[in-house]
Amino acid sequence: MCRHLGWLGADVTVASLVLDPPRGLLAQSYAPRRQKHGLLNADGWGVGFFDGGVPRRWRSSAPLWGDLSFASVAPALRSHCVVAAVRSATVGMPIEASASAPFTDGHWLLSHNGVVDRAVLPLRSSAESVCDSAILAAAIFARGMDALGDTIVEIGAADPIARLNILAANGSRMVATTWGDTLSILRRADGVVLASEPYDDDPDWADVPDRHLVEVVGDRVTLTRLDRLGPPKGC
Ligand code: GLN
Repeated sequence: MCRHLGWLGADVTVASLVLDPPRGLLAQSYAPRRQKHGLLNADGWGVGFFDGGVPRRWRSSAPLWGDLSFASVAPALRSHCVVAAVRSATVGMPIEASASAPFTDGHWLLSHNGVVDRAVLPLRSSAESVCDSAILAAAIFARGMDALGDTIVEIGAADPIARLNILAANGSRMVATTWGDTLSILRRADGVVLASEPYDDDPDWADVPDRHLVEVVGDRVTLTRLDRLGPPKGC
């Protein structure tokens, strides 16, 4: 299981979200607190952020804790919208920078925390890697982000043991799903954080229940139960 984090709000530095918090993604790369699968997130990392309307990414297949170049530059990277992740590769998946989230279609940045049987996903040449998360990202992008909830419910029905926590943002919206793993939300005065686990002990962190869709636009947050969307029952 990987750990991911998203930010939508005022301009802040990437370091203030990823590196500085006492239990942030850097700490979660070697000592996650709520991870149910895997002990470490040492198989790569990725940071994506919006520069105006343009998504930019820095990804690696190495542990975040060893990247001194990123540690040096991250305090100078500022954005109002960030999607970042540290990775614990699923057995059998390649360890390469192109398999590290966030994935992109040029408009959205998307991270997947979980695992899915690739056999239930359509094969798409647009997938950035043969990693399950990259193929899942390509399938979600192809279907459109407005259908994210339906897509997750359908894939969850096709692979009942899949874990499908998604986190995505496009610079003005942030969306996430909970489907098998943890997600918490922090509403700050200057913006909203969604994260696999709280990056500090602020009592304002709230857990998002499983099987929900979260949508953030500005400071408005909406939660929708995914099991209510339910796949159409065949006869
Ligand atoms: N299955 C994905 C991978 O191999 C994500 C793993 C995870 O959430 N730890 O990268």
